[in-house]
Amino acid sequence: MPIQVFLCQTVTLLDMKKTVAIVWFRRDLRVDDQPALRKAVEEGSAVVPVYIHAPEEEGDWAPGAASRWWLHHSLKNLDARLKSLGSRLILRRGPTLEALFDLCAETGAARIYWNRLLEPSLVARDHKIEEELRSKGKEVSIYHGAGLFQPWQLLKGDGRPYQVFTAFWNNLRSLPVDAPVSFAGSKIRSPGRWPRSLGLRELGLLPRVNWSEGINQAWEPSAEGAERLLKRFTRKALPDYSSGRDLPEREGTSKLSPFLHFGEVSVRRVWHCAAKQTHAMPFLRQLAWREFAACLLYYFPFTPGKSLRDEFERFAWRKDSENLRAWQKGKTGYPFVDAGMRQLWTTGWMHNRVRMVAASFLVKHLLIDWREGARWFWDTLVDADLANNTMGWQWVAGCGADAAPYFRIFNPVLQGQKFDPQGNYVRRWVPELARLPAAWIHQPWKAPAEVLREAGVELGRHYPAPVVEHSDSRKRALMAYHRMKINSK
Ligand code: FAD
Repeated sequence: MPIQVFLCQTVTLLDMKKTVAIVWFRRDLRVDDQPALRKAVEEGSAVVPVYIHAPEEEGDWAPGAASRWWLHHSLKNLDARLKSLGSRLILRRGPTLEALFDLCAETGAARIYWNRLLEPSLVARDHKIEEELRSKGKEVSIYHGAGLFQPWQLLKGDGRPYQVFTAFWNNLRSLPVDAPVSFAGSKIRSPGRWPRSLGLRELGLLPRVNWSEGINQAWEPSAEGAERLLKRFTRKALPDYSSGRDLPEREGTSKLSPFLHFGEVSVRRVWHCAAKQTHAMPFLRQLAWREFAACLLYYFPFTPGKSLRDEFERFAWRKDSENLRAWQKGKTGYPFVDAGMRQLWTTGWMHNRVRMVAASFLVKHLLIDWREGARWFWDTLVDADLANNTMGWQWVAGCGADAAPYFRIFNPVLQGQKFDPQGNYVRRWVPELARLPAAWIHQPWKAPAEVLREAGVELGRHYPAPVVEHSDSRKRALMAYHRMKINSK
């Protein structure tokens, strides 16, 4: 190396060692495989890790109640992890740009690092922040840490986004997924003086009413919690994932969705950990659905509020607050649906098979707009994710990419009998039916009077009669669909 280049590089490195860098944490609440943090540390800067709470900048999709609960605990755990490395997490409130400028002024930082997010309102906001910071002479470095790939790496040959999952998957699986990089050092260099931080409680993330007891018991929102689940899943459930993943009574899936959303674990780590095992392909395919959802949201940013298939904007949804409420509360009279909705309310999570059936029940049996369901999920899921939730709801409603055709209508009784044959999932979440034999548990209204009596169930008193009749509501849904088709011609 010529001496001038060597000297120049050495001077640059020494300069960096003197600098302070802000690492802006967002939904990458981890230390391992965290590209923005790694870069700042590698460059030798003193690091100011910061989280800025600015829900108003997320437009219509600020985190819901369950997500806020998760965020509170996850921030606490991230702070503890950073403290173990000699650092800490600074908490601020938005407006974000103002908070970043304040921090630069208080710490002398001239460099800001973050990992890219892909939600439409955040893409626009981050772009503006980047421009403003650069225009004031700050150096901004943005990394990729949320997905396996960036959306523009997963386009069709003609440069357009995929709308068919199988083709998307065939492309994705042919590409090498970068290996995760664990945090290498034992310390993160601190700035000479720490800027002030809000206390975690001042962010007001926890619910005022104590509704989170069940969620508290169900989750450990931290990188350690993610690691424990990942290990347990790959050891116990992954080998049988393709048969076990549809049975909600079992721990047949990873339950990593909230951790992947908030970034306590990187999806690259999950991918590589699973890929080492035999029979991993069906699970890797599900991770690719997450990637597909992110691409759809990125290229079709209107979809959280509008059907991807335009004809569905003319669908005659019903306004029916009473039945919407019954669905939300898990009181539709269809035990499999109600079990799912109560699992959601109690733990902030619902099994994927049951999400499909419960969502289908809302949009087809009750003819209620999928956006009402998406909103409820948004508020109650700990894994509420704009890309996955939008795709999931539009898939069920038949109005999204590669969606289930609207006229294919799940029968909630048959779905229960197939995927919860002994009725144990229903027994767990709808305890008033716990003593019903498996033969009747998915359709208690058909049970003989003495069976109901012996099980201590009086329909309409202990458990509701079905709010709609299956075959009538199926016919009604198909008619609404045909009317929409005719109106769209
Ligand atoms: P696993 O089976 O262990 O899968 C591993 C990971 O792959 C998941 O954590 C998730 O990140 C991803 N994944 C799996 N299935 C899907 C899928 N169908 N679409 C996208 N990603 C998937 N998932 C969310 O993370 N957030 C949501 O807000 C959300 N809303 C949904 C709404 C509806 C109506 C439906 C039908 C599905 C929704 N899903 C959502 C997808 C799916 O139900 C969950 O990702 C899954 O149940 C999470 O459980 P798990 O981590 O055990 O999944």
